[in-house]
Amino acid sequence: MQLIFLGPPGAGKGTQAVSLSKRLNIPHISTGDILREAIAQQTSLGLQSATYLKAGELVPDVLIMSLIRERFSQPDVSKGWILDGFPRTLRQATALDDLLSILQQPYPKVVYFKAQSGILIDRLLRAGRQDDTVASIRRRLEIYNEETAPLIEHYQKRLCLTTVNANHAVEEVANALSLLGTQEIGTAKFISNEAEFDALLADEVPLVVDCTASWCGPCKLVAPMMDKLASEFGDRVNVYKLDLDRNKPVASRFGIRSIPAVMFFRNGELQETLTGVSPYD
Ligand code: AMP
Repeated sequence: MQLIFLGPPGAGKGTQAVSLSKRLNIPHISTGDILREAIAQQTSLGLQSATYLKAGELVPDVLIMSLIRERFSQPDVSKGWILDGFPRTLRQATALDDLLSILQQPYPKVVYFKAQSGILIDRLLRAGRQDDTVASIRRRLEIYNEETAPLIEHYQKRLCLTTVNANHAVEEVANALSLLGTQEIGTAKFISNEAEFDALLADEVPLVVDCTASWCGPCKLVAPMMDKLASEFGDRVNVYKLDLDRNKPVASRFGIRSIPAVMFFRNGELQETLTGVSPYD
């Protein structure tokens, strides 16, 4: 599973990320932790970032993006990941979108931790982290509102945002998050390449392929129907999704000109292709 934890400082993203990453056995990537470690080790990244952290200011996007690119070059990210504290600006979010598409990583689910500022300030003061003073906490909340809050709309538009009530206690938030995992079960999987596509065509079981792309809003309305089809009829029908950005030759091979498009195959032959959102239910 690929997750972004979005929300103000003190919302409990880190706490939840630590336990969920253990439960799902996927890495927890916290840019704040990486920066603090770099400062402690006095690496070049640490020396360049220290003053920003001290003041509660954002570290420049270029430094953060090189840190993220480096982290995503490590093999463990292939299992999935939880991003915590990144992206924090629209520029970082767009750069991440580009990076994920280059790396052929699935588009993430985004969990927005929504909480009242009074609760946040209280929690941050009680946590008493070294770089937290009243002034730096205020500044961090201000920066969150200016720079990071606009990301809510960025991800809302992409229909991948889930909101959790982060005013609640840790256990309740953990419960809300655990539902995210169950939604993954029994869902239609992505075909990874054309060879896998050909192998599925050679199979005697009828095949349904939902052509989609991360930037396609209406496709996100079709995906749940495919997941339902997969979980109800998965024993009789192969139901798959295909990311067209990563499989352009397939689009031209089957004459796909617009998405959402769902192709129906029997004995390796294309029976029909339905496009748009409405016909599927
Ligand atoms: P955090 O532990 O996520 O609250 O991060 C602590 C500090 O690290 C922040 O106040 C920023 O100075 C810096 N930082 C962490 N992540 C980012 C990011 N994605 N972009 C810019 N600065 C960051």
